[in-house]
Amino acid sequence: MSGTAENNTRCGFVALVGAPNAGKSTLLNQLVGTKVSIVSPKVQTTRTRVLGICISGQSQIAFIDTPGIFAPKRRLDRAMVAAAWGGASEADEVVLLVDASKGITRDTEEIIARLKDTQSKVILALNKVDQVKKPVLLDLAAKLDAEGVFSDIFMISALKGNGVDDLLAFLAARAPEGPWHYPEDQISDLPERMLAAEITREKVFLQLKQELPYRITVETENWEERKDGSVKIDQLLFVQKDGHKQIVLGKGGQQIKKIGAAARRELEEILDCKVHLFLFVKVREGWEDDPERYRHWGLDFNV
Ligand code: GDP
Ligand code: MG
Repeated sequence: MSGTAENNTRCGFVALVGAPNAGKSTLLNQLVGTKVSIVSPKVQTTRTRVLGICISGQSQIAFIDTPGIFAPKRRLDRAMVAAAWGGASEADEVVLLVDASKGITRDTEEIIARLKDTQSKVILALNKVDQVKKPVLLDLAAKLDAEGVFSDIFMISALKGNGVDDLLAFLAARAPEGPWHYPEDQISDLPERMLAAEITREKVFLQLKQELPYRITVETENWEERKDGSVKIDQLLFVQKDGHKQIVLGKGGQQIKKIGAAARRELEEILDCKVHLFLFVKVREGWEDDPERYRHWGLDFNV
């Protein structure tokens, strides 16, 4: 007899794709139960492919959180879209997240067209059902079902958690048999440095809201674990213009202080230790055309 209770495990890779703001990061965080991917009301905050890992019964599911898929214009956009589809082709299952409160947008139409081209079937998760009336929702589900590119349809609220367990159980049952790829307690293989940078970047977004110098990157320069159990983290915040630097710093450095305090609190929670966080703002013009930056983010410069 082959297969005892112990080795009857399953392990699958699932790509989450969808238009910007569909709720991919929110779903990932809900599934994994800890913050692994940044969530922001602004579009296009996810630049890196984040892997969140969760366990359901005997199955381990590794989620690939892709940047949003949309009609790309600039080089950076093209690189992100290529990365998103790249992530999808490596996965065992693809879950397309659609914001049900927006109906069928141009982005969704483009994704469906692309799925028809490649003749691949994906799982549809209609998200934000907490914001949509039942009849509207059912009508939308019927329309999308008629496209013939979805193997299964789930209705979820990534934010509130409705339907998320059902989706996870479904994915767990479908995962290929095999050993787990990751240790049981590992929730993300995103290097901690990058996660820390993402957290700070999220705080910049939240803190600056409208005045935001949109193109800002954060890099963790230094990570030092100290004897007393604390961690010292130095990060560089790159902005494109001198004016942006002033905005990020704020009057008398008030803005950057608030950003740093919020990021530090969250880092202490996640890392479960005292954190000394030092932020430096630098102007770096033209980074969008610098191949090195693309490599840093795991993106392909030449698409
Ligand atoms: P992503 O760009 O696809 O990763 O989208 P995010 O996860 O960053 O979510 C974009 C926005 O939608 C955020 O403001 C979320 O709080 C919100 N959101 C995500 N899921 C839900 C949901 O199920 N219900 C509601 N009401 N809002 C949601
Ligand atoms: Mg996201």
